[in-house]
Amino acid sequence: MYQLSDWDKVVEFHGHICPGLAVGYRAALAALRELQVSRSEDEQLVAIVENDACGVDAIQVLTGCSFGKGNLIFRDYGKHVFTIGRRSDGKAVRISIKKKNRVENKNYYVLIKSVLNGNATEEDKKTFKKIHKEKTERILNAPEEEILEITHVTLDLPRKAQIFQSVECAICGETVMEPRARIQNGKIICIPCSSLST
Ligand SMILES: [Zn+2]
Ligand SMILES: [Zn+2]
Repeated sequence: MYQLSDWDKVVEFHGHICPGLAVGYRAALAALRELQVSRSEDEQLVAIVENDACGVDAIQVLTGCSFGKGNLIFRDYGKHVFTIGRRSDGKAVRISIKKKNRVENKNYYVLIKSVLNGNATEEDKKTFKKIHKEKTERILNAPEEEILEITHVTLDLPRKAQIFQSVECAICGETVMEPRARIQNGKIICIPCSSLST
């Protein structure tokens, strides 16, 4: 039977092939190797991601860390850094993506913008696709030390997913996890309602 490769699985989940996904893929594989674990099923892993871009999908698929399980933590720093660790002993690796792999073609960013804005000509789109594909392939095949900066760290990892009590919003009537509820004029309300009423 045909077996999907790890890369195929990552692409299937993400929906397209792109350099960001390739970076996340390389980072995830490196982390699993450094931590000597295969997947999150046997060893409880935690991933802390400092961006919410394409690469995070590769991290989720390969490490098994996900929002739903509470072991994927998003820190909105806008940095290409992934920290993956074992919950059991806090052994972790911090993986930072080396700069030269991100910015080396100014034209690429101009092209991305026009493609996203819908202003790109057919020629632009072709060039963009070509650069996109080349970049992805280069990242997939590059020697690891050229793309990843790996540091071993010890982490004070978050506890297992916490269960919170639910309370009812006085405005919309929907339930909300207690720590997320707000008190306004003595009433318990949810965040969306609290921003509407200010
Ligand atoms: Zn992508
Ligand atoms: Zn509400």
